[in-house]
Amino acid sequence: MNTKQNLILVFIGVAVISLIVYFSIPKQVEIPHYHAGFLVYIDGQKQDYSDTQYMYLDSCTVLDKQKNHTMETPDKVHLHNDVGDVAHVHDDTSTWAMLFKNLEVNFPPNEPLVGYKNGEKVDNLINTPIKPYDSVIFIIGSEDGIDKTQYVTKAHIQDVEGKSSVCNR
Ligand SMILES: [Zn+2]
Ligand SMILES: [Zn+2]
Repeated sequence: MNTKQNLILVFIGVAVISLIVYFSIPKQVEIPHYHAGFLVYIDGQKQDYSDTQYMYLDSCTVLDKQKNHTMETPDKVHLHNDVGDVAHVHDDTSTWAMLFKNLEVNFPPNEPLVGYKNGEKVDNLINTPIKPYDSVIFIIGSEDGIDKTQYVTKAHIQDVEGKSSVCNR
């Protein structure tokens, strides 16, 4: 073999080894984790979801389940750290309806449910995927006396975000 053929063989060898190494390194799993604010009024009463019973307690499990693709609905969107007005989202298909299902909150079935975002009524907001820094209001039943200009602020969402515990692994 002449030098040129040797060079080609070396080149092919390096290329093949590079490909094998590239595909054998486990890829970093992209784990979504973002936050959105929400307020709920039922018959004019602002709801409080800050009790421990509404909290998702094991944040490290979420990361493992995401890596292994075994996340279930309660893992995807929930509350942490006794904060009842900021949702933690770990899967970008999560909707507000999924959050309330996870909280085991039942709204009165025969009353109208209206969603507001950025001061505007949004049709079917409850079944809409939650976006980062969304801030919404859900009103079930009477809207009388409810201040619809008061949303969870972005500053509060970011404050919660800064404090949220994330496993370092
Ligand atoms: Zn979480
Ligand atoms: Zn979080």
